[in-house]
Amino acid sequence: MKNQLQLLQEKFPYMFNGDHIGIDVAPGWMPGFQKLCEKIDQLLGDDKRDFYWRQCKEKFGSARWYWKMKGRPTEIRIDLISESGVIETIAKGKRSAESDLSEKIRALIQEAEAHTEHACIYCGEPGTLNKKDGYLLVLCEEHSRQRNAGTLPSIWSDEDEGE
Ligand SMILES: [Zn+2]
Repeated sequence: MKNQLQLLQEKFPYMFNGDHIGIDVAPGWMPGFQKLCEKIDQLLGDDKRDFYWRQCKEKFGSARWYWKMKGRPTEIRIDLISESGVIETIAKGKRSAESDLSEKIRALIQEAEAHTEHACIYCGEPGTLNKKDGYLLVLCEEHSRQRNAGTLPSIWSDEDEGE
């Protein structure tokens, strides 16, 4: 049985055929990630400009989705964690002909990533940051309870036997 990520890869193969270094999208983030891929696809139109996901991962409990596109200005992204949450700085590169499009895509991705700061990584329900053992995860009440009880299954195990 195909999972949601595989279905998405079939729908938008170009986004996943690039030289990526790991695509992991948590189940609770999939609805948002699917919508994001659809919006980016629309924005790109007929010319996909070699857009692809470079890396999709979790950092400080929320999603970080890195991407590449032909003609995209280089930018450096720095995340810092503080008591009040994550502070992000983006050092932008030179403007280019593609920078308006690039800017729009970046805004969409940031919006979708921001949503994962408040959505349970397991189920997508509204959640808050759970800091058990110093490893941050955004969890709903039920999954937070499971984590504190030590019964939460690993989120990144793809081997779902019995499916
Ligand atoms: Zn949950």
